[in-house]
Amino acid sequence: MKPAPFEYHRPSSLAEALELLADLPDAEPLAGNQSLSILMSNRLASPDHLVDINDLAELSYVAADGQSVEVGALVRHREVERSGTLADALPLFPEAAGKIAGPVVRNRGTVGGSLGEGDPAGNYPCVAAALDADLELASADGSRTVPAEDFFIATMFTDREEDELITGLAIPREPFPPARTGQTFLAVKEAAQTWPTLSAAGAVRVDDPAADEPVVEEARVALANAAEVPLRVREAESELAGEPLTDAALAAAGETAYEAVDPEEELHADETYKRELAREYTKRALTTAHDRAVA
Ligand SMILES: Cc1cc2nc3c(=O)[nH]c(=O)nc-3n(C[C@H](O)[C@H](O)[C@H](O)COP(=O)(O)OP(=O)(O)OC[C@H]3O[C@@H](n4cnc5c(N)ncnc54)[C@H](O)[C@@H]3O)c2cc1C
Repeated sequence: MKPAPFEYHRPSSLAEALELLADLPDAEPLAGNQSLSILMSNRLASPDHLVDINDLAELSYVAADGQSVEVGALVRHREVERSGTLADALPLFPEAAGKIAGPVVRNRGTVGGSLGEGDPAGNYPCVAAALDADLELASADGSRTVPAEDFFIATMFTDREEDELITGLAIPREPFPPARTGQTFLAVKEAAQTWPTLSAAGAVRVDDPAADEPVVEEARVALANAAEVPLRVREAESELAGEPLTDAALAAAGETAYEAVDPEEELHADETYKRELAREYTKRALTTAHDRAVA
């Protein structure tokens, strides 16, 4: 099938793009086009206007200071994967980027497109939830900030208004001092190019990496494709804080994840299988993050 007819617009500044989104009826932003073209070709999306944001150089940045890391919406997955700044500050993010599809998709796909799509299986929505990221949105009327967990509302449904663009995201650094923190992103896939059946983002901060039994000060676990939205397993996180990461604590966290998820059945994975993956990959993500924190 071919897409329904549409008009193509290519603004050269953020202000111009926001004016177009405000003025044009049924307009959709176009970024890396790794998802939108598939939706349009299958007539699952038929916008009257496409506003191509690929010339908006102001949305292509990675910046870090002592407080936060900021990533622009037009940064490609490949740039995230190869960013030394992100590898130093928040290694979970580049690890997640490297597990998106193959190089062709990663060369074009963008941070904003992945977040804007609102797919609960997406890598970045899961990362954003795990790291307490704030999404930055702009429209012709102004800008606002939305916590990642509030942004994703249901499958392919987000808090974004039609005239808004995601301009970037900001992630606080204070919970993740590199010397005492480990992070990981694990994905279960049927094949390298496919979307994951389930993914787990994990981060663990310990009090003293050199101690015989380091105490977990903070643990983060988020799961992708385990519910209608990226799912923080908060109950497991709070149970782990203040204790060493023992086998018993890991087992309890896995059980909590098994109960917390609300997965949708797929061709290769029924609900029980996905719950079992949630249990197992919660434990693996925490173990790997902890191992990296104390290494
Ligand atoms: C074969 C294949 C495998 C894939 N596997 C994975 C995977 O394992 N994990 C994963 O996370 N992703 C996967 N993807 C998706 C990939 O990450 C896409 O690049 C991404 O989902 C969409 O990014 P894009 O820049 O291409 O957006 P586009 O396709 O251009 O747009 C997608 C949607 O986001 C909206 N949008 C784009 N930019 C913005 C913005 N700045 N503000 C607001 N809305 C915006 C568009 O209007 C559209 O609705 C896969 C894709 C393919 C084709």
